[in-house]
Amino acid sequence: MSALSLSTSILELPLVHPFTIARGSSQTARTVVFRVSWNGLEGLGETAPIARYGESADSVAAYFEKHPLRGDDPYLLEELLSQDIPPAARCGLDIALHDLIGKDCGKPLYRLLGLDPSKTPLTSFTIGIADPETTLRKVSELGNHPVMKLKLGSGATATQIETVELIRSKYAGTIRIDANEGWSADQAVNILGELARFDIEFCEQPIPAGHPDQLRFVRERSKIPIVTDEDSRTAGDLPALFGCVDGINVKLVKTGGIRGALKMIHTARALKFKIMLGCMVESQILSTAAAHLSPLVDWADIDGPFLTKDDPFSGITYERGKIVLPDGPGLGVREGRHCVGM
Ligand code: MG
Repeated sequence: MSALSLSTSILELPLVHPFTIARGSSQTARTVVFRVSWNGLEGLGETAPIARYGESADSVAAYFEKHPLRGDDPYLLEELLSQDIPPAARCGLDIALHDLIGKDCGKPLYRLLGLDPSKTPLTSFTIGIADPETTLRKVSELGNHPVMKLKLGSGATATQIETVELIRSKYAGTIRIDANEGWSADQAVNILGELARFDIEFCEQPIPAGHPDQLRFVRERSKIPIVTDEDSRTAGDLPALFGCVDGINVKLVKTGGIRGALKMIHTARALKFKIMLGCMVESQILSTAAAHLSPLVDWADIDGPFLTKDDPFSGITYERGKIVLPDGPGLGVREGRHCVGM
């Protein structure tokens, strides 16, 4: 039995379009690829650290240069994935260990988790903030993809409402919106009141995180269901949101990987929240890891592979928006590019 070893490397992924949300804009995604080796096998992992929560690709790589792995047995996940490892760093290691265990057992991760791969949901395709002409071009590129998520939360209130009206006039599919903390509570009530006539499925994080009482205020005045993202990082955040929102967005990077996401999903079910599974701008490794959990959730927003180009990995594909899981052992991710479809 060989020792368990880890290497990390930074991955720069160019984006199909510059990606703009209420907090800022980016042209490339910067993630960290994890490779764990043990017993002649290699497990692949990835994390896409979020500056909003104080982690970066460099901070993750530096963490593992300073902190050796806490054991040699990849099955001892509780030891190796200690809660004091920062969440984004823990996420990359957690995914790599799950991939390694799946390869050692010769089973896809969804089987180890007890899940039916035919029960994956549709995913939304995210459209960042842009001028109306660019937004419409992106909507036309969606073709007949059945669900979109539109980023709002910056610019004049009237312009945001006009943008949704324009999109609704051209797009018959399901529309979700995400304000990324960009509105005040009163502004959220006003905008959501106007947007209700455009048949919006839900609104993600209308106001800055940390104010559950204001979320409740918005929810009580909105016909559009309210879902948190920045307010719901881990399972421990959920009890404070009880009665204040309709659903929560789970992301592996926020919550420390597959184990953290499972804890969060089961806590959310106990509290009767609807559950969305999200991603960052990332490669197929991280999106495929999240997708293996997707039979457990109500809504998926796992569109990383649509947003990047030159992804060096292949994993999930899509059939008219429905996630199709690979059936190789572990994550089923392979090195090499392929077309992900729509
Ligand atoms: Mg969000």
